[in-house]
Parts: sequence; C-alpha cells; structure tokens
Amino acid sequence: MLTVTSQPAAATRAWNGLIMATLTEDEQTIRRMVADAELPPLLAALAHLTGDMSLIRPEFRPPLRSLQASMEPQGGMTAEAQAAAREAAVAALVAYRDSGCPPAGTRSPEEIHELMKFLTGGAGEEYLSLLDHELSLGIDVGAPAWRTSEIAPETDFRVVVIGAGMSGIAAAHRLAQAEVPFVVLEKNADVGGTWLENNYPGCRLDTNNFAYSYSFAQRGDWPQQFSAQSDIRDYFQSVATELGLRDKIQFGTEVLSATWDEKTATWDLRIRTDGTVQTLTAHAVISAVGQLNRPNYPDIPGIDSFQGLSLHSARWDPALDLSGRRVAVIGTGASAYQIVPSIVDQVGELVVFQRNAPWMLPTPGYHENVATGLAELFERIPAYHQWFRFWQFWIATEGRLPLVEVDPEWKRPESVSARNEQLRIQLLDRLKGQYADRPDLYEKVVPTYPPGAKRMLRDNGVWAAALQQPHVSLVTEGIAEVTPTGVRTADGVLHEVDVIVYATGFTASDFLAPMRITGRDGMDLHEHWAGDARAHLGIDVPGFPNLFMLYGPNTNLVVTGSIIYMSECATEYILECLRLLLEGGHRAMECRPDAYDTYNDLIDRENRAKAWGASEVTSWYKNAKGRVTQNWPFPLLTYWQMTRKPDPSQYDIR
Ligand code: NAP
Repeated sequence: MLTVTSQPAAATRAWNGLIMATLTEDEQTIRRMVADAELPPLLAALAHLTGDMSLIRPEFRPPLRSLQASMEPQGGMTAEAQAAAREAAVAALVAYRDSGCPPAGTRSPEEIHELMKFLTGGAGEEYLSLLDHELSLGIDVGAPAWRTSEIAPETDFRVVVIGAGMSGIAAAHRLAQAEVPFVVLEKNADVGGTWLENNYPGCRLDTNNFAYSYSFAQRGDWPQQFSAQSDIRDYFQSVATELGLRDKIQFGTEVLSATWDEKTATWDLRIRTDGTVQTLTAHAVISAVGQLNRPNYPDIPGIDSFQGLSLHSARWDPALDLSGRRVAVIGTGASAYQIVPSIVDQVGELVVFQRNAPWMLPTPGYHENVATGLAELFERIPAYHQWFRFWQFWIATEGRLPLVEVDPEWKRPESVSARNEQLRIQLLDRLKGQYADRPDLYEKVVPTYPPGAKRMLRDNGVWAAALQQPHVSLVTEGIAEVTPTGVRTADGVLHEVDVIVYATGFTASDFLAPMRITGRDGMDLHEHWAGDARAHLGIDVPGFPNLFMLYGPNTNLVVTGSIIYMSECATEYILECLRLLLEGGHRAMECRPDAYDTYNDLIDRENRAKAWGASEVTSWYKNAKGRVTQNWPFPLLTYWQMTRKPDPSQYDIR
C-alpha cells in the first residue's frame, strides 16, 4: 500500500528558461532585432513595459482577417503600417535603453485588457477571463483559490493521477497547489507520455509551441516555433522538476484496474511495479492516460509472416539503421508525414502506401529556428515572450473553425461549404505547384474528402520533395497482404522490402484501455461504453463516482488551439469538483444521466455539423460505429465557460 502524503503548495512563479539580458545595443543592432520581431505582440509588450499606450494606436492594430490556408504575416498589417510600427518600436526600445531599462510599472486590468483587445482585434468581453488565464502575467490565473488545509483540515481525502504526460503534469501541479494529497502513477520511466514514447525520425509539434505550453509554465527560449520531439519532451520533464513534482510520481507503475467501493467511497486500484502487483486506495482517480499511446497495427492478412524488420512509428528503435535498406511506410497521417522526409535520404528504396491523401497547410518556416533578433528581444524585453505566446494562442483560438462548418445547403461532396471550398481550392493550387513536373503523382496526392475532415498537416514542401525522389514510390493500390518478403497490393504486385514501418496511428477510440474500470454496482466502464466512449465534458461518466478524465472523449482539437488548453480547463474543473466535495464534507459525486445525455446530444449534433463528422472518410476521430468520439466541435470559449465550475444540479453528490 502506498502512502499518499500531503505536499505544500508549489510556488507560483515565472518559469521561462530565459536568462534575461539588459538592452545595451546600439540603434543599428536594435533595428536588426526589430526586423525579426513579430510586431503586434512587440508593440503590446513595449506598451506594457513603458506604459506608452500610443504604441498600440489604431493604425498599428493587426487586421487579423479570418484564417485561410496560410496565416498572413504580422496579422495582416500593411507594409506601411509595419514600417511605421517598426520605427515606433525602435524609438521605444532606444528610450527604454537610455532610461536604464527600468522594470515594468504596474498596469491596471483595464490597461492589460486594452492591450489584449489590440492583439485580438477587439475580442468580446466574454473572452477576457480566458485571455487573462492564457496571459497569466505575474499571476497564475488557473491556480486553485483554496487549500485543503483551509477548507478540510481533517480530511484523509487523497487522489491518484494515472499518467505523467502533458495532462497528468498539469493535474499534479494544480493538486499540489491546492495541497490535495496525491500520487501520480506512470508506467514509463520518466515524464512525457506521448512525447516520451514517440521518438521516430522527424517527430515534432504541429501546433506552435509557444501556444503548446502550459499557461503556468511559459517558456521564452524555445529554439523553434514547432519544436522537435526532444525539446517538447525536455520541456515536460523540466516542468515536472522545476515545479517539484517528481517525488510525487511513481514511475514504472502500471494501473491494471480500478474498482469503486460504495461503502467506503474509495477506488481500489491494482497496480503493477516491477512485476509485483499491489493495491492502492484513493478517494478520487484522475485518468490522464492520453488518447494517442496504444499503437494501432492494421488488420492486414499475413502481417506476422514478414521475415524482415517491422515496427510501429510509436515504437521506434533509435539504434535502427536504415542506410541503403528497402523500406515500406504504411500510412500517410501525421506520423508518416514526418518520418518519410526524415529517412528518405538514408534509405535505398522507399515505398509509401497511401489510403487517403492528407491535406496540408502551408507552413514555410515549419523547421526553422526562432529568428535571432526575435530570440534576442525575448531575452531583453520583459514579458515579450508572454505576449508572443498570447498572440500565437489567440491566432489559433477559434482559428479555422469557420472553414470546417457544414453548410446544410452545400451539395458538393469534396467540400462542406463555400468557405471550405475556397480553402480546398487554395490548397489544391499549392499542390499543383508542388507537383508541376509530376502529373502522375499529382493525381494521387489530391485528397478526395473535404479539408478538415482529417488532421491537416504542416507543410514546408519536404513531403512533396521526398515523394518525387527517384527511389521513392507512392502506392495507392489497396494492400492485400503482407508476405514474408514484402507487401502485396490488390493488383497482385509484390513490393519487396527489408523493413515495414507501420505509421498506422493509435487505437484512440479505446479510451482508458487496457485498464479495467468497475464503477458503482459492478458496472464495467468498457462494457457500459460498448466501444462508443462518451463523457460529460470529456471528464465524468454516470455510475463512476469520483472518476475524472483528462483529454477524455470529445476533447481533441482539429483546427483550433492547443490540447494543453483543453487539459488545463478540465484540470481546473476537476479541482473545483474536489473543492465541492471537500468543502461540503461529501464523499462522492457522480454525474447525473440526464446531464450526461443532454451534453452528449449537443456534442454529437455539433460534430455532425463539422467536416470531420459530415465526411465519410476514415479517421481516428470516429469509432467503429462511425460516431466522432474524439473531437471538440465548439469554439474554445465554450469549453472555457463550461468548465469554470461544476453545476451541483448536474451531479448526485453524497
Ligand atoms: P493517423 O492519423 O491515424 O494515420 C494513420 C495512417 O495509417 C493513415 O494514413 C491511415 O489511412 C493509415 N492506415 C491505417 N490503417 C491502414 C490500413 N489497414 N491500410 C492502409 N493504411 C492504413 O495516425 P498518426 O499519423 O500516428 O497520427 C495520429 C494523430 O497523432 C494525429 O492526427 C495527430 O493528432 C497526432 N500526431 C501529431 C503529430 C505532431 O505533429 N505533433 C505527429 C504525429 C501524430 P487513412 O487515412 O486512409 O485512414
């Protein structure tokens, strides 16, 4: 039996990795730095720093026209506005330097909101608390405003968090802040979850990593804006260390089952560490096991007969040497799309098997480092990196959502609305350019489904370049079988290879598998779901008291924001649930079936009105029954509003 001990609240503090420097450079050097800057957040940061609100005057306001295939540089500011804004920024920086770089004065909430409105094109009042949370400037907005020692000093209540990936670390941090006794159980040997396990060549983020970071641990020295896997993994590991969470994590421990005991209002967990099975009791369980960590091997005949080497993208062997070898990559999703360009120059021959072509969003700087001048400004201008993160977060907040909304009157199968069609045409034009010399390949790489029905991939041209190399072939004929020597397609052709890479995704619909979860009255969670997982807010399920999920059903994002935001919102909601229990001296809370059903009807209706729900194309967003179990179909604001506090009328509290 493990002991779950109490932990003092972790300090709330800036965590940014930056070693700040004083601005001492001459004007010419300052101009060079500003040339690399993202202007709108620089103006906001300088106004914040100096109090000179004329830096955010109307003529500098970024127009932020709605997102299309590409993002307009500098928020769509005209060349003239950019030139004038650069001059204003240089003048402000020179004055700041000449006055000895004083610290930022205190800014009122109204002034901060004015800066936010400048950057967001006047976001409505309803967004401001969400935006305060994401800026978290000097104050950790998402921190619980209570401590167990204050509201329930005598309680023996303790929590188990399952998983020390992105969501589990967020939960651990908030639990520590609220002084709720807890332990995190992690099957791996270190922190990082999917970012620890996926180490295939080329693995990197496809969300801007300033936005893909915790509001409470913002990093200013990201080397790139779409960082490589090792940088993201290191980030999560450093956050766990810096926030003092490591001694709360029991590594190498797998949860086999969790069983609710109504008499004691506790969960009994069977856990396995180094082959030894033990029992652990907790009053609440937070599952933070993720959606993308159990490899999906395709159901192709003969898969076990292959005599060469085969491996899944998420089980890469870093020692694997592909030099000169004949390699098959099955799948053209996000993982394959990063693997193929990374191994193409190494292999002797590459055969890529595609079922559905991916749509790709032009992202020319996808692999580039943060520009030198921008990085120098992050080090010299206090809070610039935070305003920059805020800007990146906002751009993606509701992002391309309007482009994937279904117009019921729209009759063309390859798109879902006039705006979606416009996006499709923009993306097709780009493909035409990329494959101008290869009409044979162009025919194959044009997706036949609407943009947004599957995850759109970040494209800087390396995929098209790889597919056009002479030793690479793109096979679109269906796979009939795997043989001892290769992959045979339906046309009878045997593609002989030495290595098969299954970039075939994850069993994402099997939420919480392979754990066995038994709730009230012996109800088995997976039998209850019957392959069709759902939850209220992605967090709780009737019949399973005090069981909370992070990144649960219908919390995945397709064309908006960052999953970290969703996990932070859900974590804060769960903390409010715990508060409700502890403050009221209750032992259990359980979502009511009517709240659960009403919520899921709403989710289903809205998912059907999005490209990923309306399209028939296969994707990991749908389960075997065809229902979208993964995605959040509403604006991010809606999840924010729904997760501020539990509504006691939606719960049976006892
Ligand atoms: P995925 O998107 O599910 O792609 C799996 C691929 O395998 C698809 O191309 C699929 O074809 C193909 N496939 C599956 N079964 C097959 C079969 N029996 N025969 C032939 N082809 C088959 O998986 P993923 O690429 O690992 O990505 C999953 C998710 O992980 C992404 O959507 C993303 O959210 C996340 N991810 C993110 C990053 C990142 O940039 N940060 C990187 C990797 C993954 P169909 O398309 O026809 O189904």
